[in-house]
Amino acid sequence: MTAAQRPPGPSEDSGPNPTEAAATAGLEGPAEAIERLRDWAKNRLGLSLSARQIDAFAWYLDELLRRNAQQNLTAVVDPLGIAVKHFLDSLTLVPLLGPASGRMVDVGAGAGFPGLPVRIVCSGLRLTLVEATGKKAEFCRSVAEGLALKGVDVLHARAEEIGRDPHHRQTYDVATARAVAALPVLLEYLLPLVRVGGRVLAQKGENAAAEAHQSQRALELLGGRLRQLHVVELPGVAELRYIVEVEKTAATPEAYPRRPGIPAKRPLLH
Ligand code: SAM
Repeated sequence: MTAAQRPPGPSEDSGPNPTEAAATAGLEGPAEAIERLRDWAKNRLGLSLSARQIDAFAWYLDELLRRNAQQNLTAVVDPLGIAVKHFLDSLTLVPLLGPASGRMVDVGAGAGFPGLPVRIVCSGLRLTLVEATGKKAEFCRSVAEGLALKGVDVLHARAEEIGRDPHHRQTYDVATARAVAALPVLLEYLLPLVRVGGRVLAQKGENAAAEAHQSQRALELLGGRLRQLHVVELPGVAELRYIVEVEKTAATPEAYPRRPGIPAKRPLLH
């Protein structure tokens, strides 16, 4: 979060405190990792997770560890890494969402990130997960069912397809994605899905500012305006991360998104 958005308390620290450093050293099991998640969500994001939400994260963590042993769902395989790099990182979107209702789409959700952790916390949110790989989409569906999350749809599809489908095109309040494509490409996946007045919240790494700079033409063509880059610090993770916030200012022309594969092959660069 930006300094102005950070809640007071331990999140004001310049770096991880000794407890956090120990906690990120890979020494902890699932139960301890979930305890850390509870503390970090409260101290860093101002989110008080209920007992039910804590149970949901614990179940999701176990399920991810169990299924990852059979299928390659994520490269992060230790409980604390999952708590920080998947769950907490996903939850950094929550303070930017405002009142937790409306419709959100998560494109390229993989094993459910960031959409499912956000939905665990924001019970009023209607969530659509879009994932091109069948086994990952199936995993997301099994987690949503296992946790009895209402208002969650999982589509085994490509963003370029659903961006042309009238049931989805320009219907979402928020479109998000993490680790899917460079921003000029990602905007062609996300902006067609967002209603005018809605927002894209793209989770990016250290290249966020450079990618935003390269996105001017994509923004102009697709009907978006860069609003803000929010800095995200995760405990025990040296690299800064960013949430790129884009506002949808005009309807996306019919020509976009282009056919599957074309946005990545021929990005809308200047
Ligand atoms: N967002 C998850 C995360 O941060 O853990 C998964 C990231 S993974 C590196 C990227 C995912 O995006 C893959 O599962 C891939 O199948 C999916 N993907 C890539 N391009 C896509 C597209 N055009 N439409 C839908 N899914 C896509």
